[in-house]
Amino acid sequence: MLSKEHKAVIFYAKFFVASICVLLVILGVRNSWQVRENQLAEAESTVSNLSRGLAQHATDTFKEADTALIGITERLEHDGRSPAALIRLERFLVRQVSELSQLSGLFAIDKDGHWIVNSDGMTGDHLSSLDREYFLYHRAHPGNLPHIDRPIKSRTTGDWIITISRRINAPDGSFDGLVMAAIKLDYFSYFYDSFDIGDAGILLLALDDGTMLVRQPLRKDSIGKSLVDTSIYRDYASKTSNGVARIRSSQDGVVRINSYRHLSRYPIFIVAALSEDEVLSRWKSETLLHLFGLLTLISIIVFFGNRLVVQIKLRVAAEQEANESRAYVEHLNLVLQALAMRDSLTGLANRRCFDDAISRELQRAARNKNSLALLMIDVDYFKKYNDTYGHPAGDACLKQIANAIRVAEKRSVDLVARYGGEEIIVMLPDCDAQGAVQIAENILSEVRALAIPHSGNPRGIVTVSAGVAVLNPIENNDIPETIIGMADKALYQAKSNGRDQVRLYIEDAAQVCQSREQSPVRQSES
Ligand code: GH3
Ligand code: MG
Ligand code: MG
Repeated sequence: MLSKEHKAVIFYAKFFVASICVLLVILGVRNSWQVRENQLAEAESTVSNLSRGLAQHATDTFKEADTALIGITERLEHDGRSPAALIRLERFLVRQVSELSQLSGLFAIDKDGHWIVNSDGMTGDHLSSLDREYFLYHRAHPGNLPHIDRPIKSRTTGDWIITISRRINAPDGSFDGLVMAAIKLDYFSYFYDSFDIGDAGILLLALDDGTMLVRQPLRKDSIGKSLVDTSIYRDYASKTSNGVARIRSSQDGVVRINSYRHLSRYPIFIVAALSEDEVLSRWKSETLLHLFGLLTLISIIVFFGNRLVVQIKLRVAAEQEANESRAYVEHLNLVLQALAMRDSLTGLANRRCFDDAISRELQRAARNKNSLALLMIDVDYFKKYNDTYGHPAGDACLKQIANAIRVAEKRSVDLVARYGGEEIIVMLPDCDAQGAVQIAENILSEVRALAIPHSGNPRGIVTVSAGVAVLNPIENNDIPETIIGMADKALYQAKSNGRDQVRLYIEDAAQVCQSREQSPVRQSES
């Protein structure tokens, strides 16, 4: 089981890797989208510039033709229509047509529709424009503005042309014929053909009423076709003078970026359109490349992130194993240490433990100017007990006595230890003589209370004797043997005086041991 801390580390590692991946994806998508928007904006600007250029070109084309018409009108008005004047005018027309490449022909027509003069040098009464729309228009409209007609097929060349014409007024203002310039639609087609608009791009020239004049790329039926039902005309070009619109074609389904622009002088508008797919084709291939790069990068990060998490888990597991092993070894050490300090028979502290403790407590007592009391306890007639009841019974008896003596171990600093054989020692730090004797007496009582039968003991039960020594040690002067020797002497006295009693070792000749149960006071010699 992983600890909370380790789970958090792994969680953060995973979170870190996931965050980097998400961040990379967000940045990638955002960057790619930005590039796309930039390319579309660039395309909008391109079609916009293109439509502006084409509009200017169309204006110039019509204006040149219109200027020629104004010149012809003035010549007719000033020079009259005499044969000589008309011959001069015809030369003028021929020169104009040869200089203006957009022109298919220039014509002067009288009020009955007959051609007065034309740039092709054609004559004859059969040459009439009586049925032409521009003739009917000017005859009906007295204004002197140029008029542009729907595309027609030229009667002289058979080419598709668009006409621009002006009315000639008689001095009284009545209709006196018209001048007309025929402009080749091919002229625009050739020009539009020089632009690179991709495979699905479109360039359009159309009349304001939606009649298509020129379409690039060319289509058979495109000239004269109505754009009224197309979105670019219906929703945009018929409503505003210019603008940009993204429209899906209802004919070929291609989405195009369209820029439309009306000519300010003439009833004509231009449309330039580029296919969105073609505009974005480079972006698409670059995005695919970036996507591939991004996925590769993310795969690498995920792979190494995974390895990192696995490594962390392995390390955590190894660390845990090491910790558990260390804890186990430490526990074993403690157990061994405890076992090394314990007596296996009685469970009391052993001699080694006592030796350590007595040195330490002597030093401490000397430092703190405290007393240290020691009780040396020995079982009475124990050899006889063994002899009588057997050695195992002796062992059991010793265990019982040890448990009884353990009552003396009241404070954590007190220590009851098996000193050797059937001798048990009790160390009582910071305990005065009175207290130590009292505790010794209590121990004797406890042992008596066990009432272990002992035929070899005059009292009939197992008893113990105790020698008590109390010392106020001086630092680095008193050694354990001093106080042990004192207790031992007091014990010897207790034994010699009949056993089952307590003796206190008193320094300087007089040794006194007070016993509640046995008075008078017993003494041991120093
Ligand atoms: P005293 O009253 O003078 O002490 O007489 P005693 O017989 O007890 O003499 P001593 O103290 O010298 O006795 C030591 C005896 O204790 C020797 C041995 O038989 C017995 N003894 C020592 N250690 C053990 C032990 O671990 N188990 C058993 N059963 N007996 C032990
Ligand atoms: Mg003994
Ligand atoms: Mg003994």
